[in-house]
Amino acid sequence: MFDDLDDIYSELIRDHNKSPRNFRVMEDADRQAQGTNPNCGDNYQIFVKMDGDTISDVSFQGSGCAISKSSASLLTEALKGKTKAEIKDAFEKVRDMVTTGEVADTGLGKLAAFAGVYKFPARVKCAILPWHAIVAAIDGGEESVSTE
Ligand code: ZN
Repeated sequence: MFDDLDDIYSELIRDHNKSPRNFRVMEDADRQAQGTNPNCGDNYQIFVKMDGDTISDVSFQGSGCAISKSSASLLTEALKGKTKAEIKDAFEKVRDMVTTGEVADTGLGKLAAFAGVYKFPARVKCAILPWHAIVAAIDGGEESVSTE
């Protein structure tokens, strides 16, 4: 059963790597942050537009491996319309998931595609990098975050 799920999730990751969603510079972004993972060479800029406490639009630009790029792409799809608190909650759930491989029944949806990453500790930073960047962006404090 898990092999089948892995296949489906791999397909999703491949698709988002090949055709990343919301992959554009947002000229009128309210906030942005850069995330880098020197170990892998991942380097992304995340752009967000806020409507009060809610993200009304989110996009990203940059380059890196399939895991980081598909993670950023799925993140932008999952987080549009979410509040800051919901995003931080999702970040913690995703971080737990990619470090333990356990998918809590918490409505992560497609983000569960990254559960298998826990088997590859070096790739955990790739999967989580866009999350560090968006949290930095919505907090508006740090403009640049690194996994190192
Ligand atoms: Zn990477």
